[in-house]
Amino acid sequence: MKRLLPVMLGLILAAVLVLISEQEPGRRFAPAGAVAGFGHSGRAADEPLNPAVAAPLPTLSAVAPQGFTPAPPGERPYVPILMYHYVRYVDRAADPLGFSLSVTPEQLDAQLGWLKAAGYETVRMDALAACMRGEGPCPLRAVALTFDDGYTDAFTTALPILQRHGLVATFYIVSGFVGQPGYMGWPEIRALRDAGMEIGAHSMTHPDLTGLGLEELRAQVGQSGAAISAEVGQPVLSFCYPGGRFSDTVVAVTREAGYTSATTTIQDGPQSDPFTLPRLRISGDLTLEGLQWMVTSRLP
Ligand SMILES: [Zn+2]
Repeated sequence: MKRLLPVMLGLILAAVLVLISEQEPGRRFAPAGAVAGFGHSGRAADEPLNPAVAAPLPTLSAVAPQGFTPAPPGERPYVPILMYHYVRYVDRAADPLGFSLSVTPEQLDAQLGWLKAAGYETVRMDALAACMRGEGPCPLRAVALTFDDGYTDAFTTALPILQRHGLVATFYIVSGFVGQPGYMGWPEIRALRDAGMEIGAHSMTHPDLTGLGLEELRAQVGQSGAAISAEVGQPVLSFCYPGGRFSDTVVAVTREAGYTSATTTIQDGPQSDPFTLPRLRISGDLTLEGLQWMVTSRLP
């Protein structure tokens, strides 16, 4: 409890700062992590936005519906959780790893278009966790779309495609990377929120959590969510283990920090434990037929 107190004070202070900042356009504040003394990136609060995304934000009118068709009471159909990273063009020969972590805008558009046409709905991870905990309805026939790391193309490219299809996704943000080159800033993350997307946490600096001492582990897990929550003005309920690395201790700390679910990079398996959820990796060389099989073999 002693450890929680500064965190809570930091949260309250940050929430007040956010409220103030909403009333004073142009003022921006450091995240709660910095207030509480954790994870300060050294970036001044008024530093300009990442130039790649500093252009005026487009007006986002369409807020995707978060509702889904519920399964009959007592039933919990499998929910394929798809794992994306970048949505961009990559030269496969020049950057094989980058290629495998990326889908092109056309690929994403085709995949989401097929999901929609095939009658699949989307469910955010917070709603899926509520279903698994027996605290909310379970979707009858839905997939969960997750985007890791908070790259700029989540805002510039993935968001418009999601909106075109009226689908929702969960975006896992690395709190300490926000606003750095290649990563979204808080205005872009708030725009995702405003469009009905879920903002989840993915640690402060993307370390291998299994290699950390308890103190640092708690900071990486708890402070990232606190910092993001302070900036988006909503609870952050969903966590994603960096690099998919977790242990019993990591799971326990994530649970203790107040999250309701955590995703891994385990490629397949049962959805019994909300804190070790497997996902289906969507890589650059996955064909549309491959994706169709991936989904329909698990949820016809
Ligand atoms: Zn990651």
